[in-house]
Amino acid sequence: MTRLIFLGPPGAGKGTQAQVVADLAKIPHISTGEILREAIAQKTDLGVKAQSYVDQGDLVPDDLILDLIRERLNHQDTANGWILDGFPRNVEQAVFLDNLLTELNQNADSAVNFTVDDQVLIERMLARGRKDDNEETITRRLQVYRELTAPVLNYYQERSRLQSIDGDRPIDEVTASLKALLNL
Ligand code: AMP
Repeated sequence: MTRLIFLGPPGAGKGTQAQVVADLAKIPHISTGEILREAIAQKTDLGVKAQSYVDQGDLVPDDLILDLIRERLNHQDTANGWILDGFPRNVEQAVFLDNLLTELNQNADSAVNFTVDDQVLIERMLARGRKDDNEETITRRLQVYRELTAPVLNYYQERSRLQSIDGDRPIDEVTASLKALLNL
């Protein structure tokens, strides 16, 4: 059983590492950003409502995200665990997740914070070239991260559930550290 929450700024490598660990542990990699991008591409109700927020680098309102997470964690394929990547993004979402997990009789094993300096994050995002990886949106996403998401680190720290990993290293090295840290 592996239940993990991957935290850290945009461009820190959470998504890449989450996919590696998910494949290894044979559990779903749940990325709210991916779910939103997919919904936007398919022009679903969710996608239409979320698009302007994602394009500008703002958080999509909680009422669009919370039901989605509840449904996703109730899905059959989460029986052996899950990795959350990009959720929770603010303290309200973290509180919601704790309540939801209590309801589901589950516990997160740990929250892992990937640390990378801003300058490296910006370079990585510009190289990645997603639609929201332009300079203006990147600046906004880093600002949103500092204002709304960084307090989530304190939330888990205060509950002794936070672990940190240096994300400014080659992918394989980060994976190796992660496996050691999490006993995978
Ligand atoms: P990501 O792929 O995690 O970088 O997310 C891309 C964008 O999706 C973010 O900039 C937000 O606009 C939106 N997003 C992803 N996850 C969340 C979330 N948990 N709450 C609100 N908005 C989110």
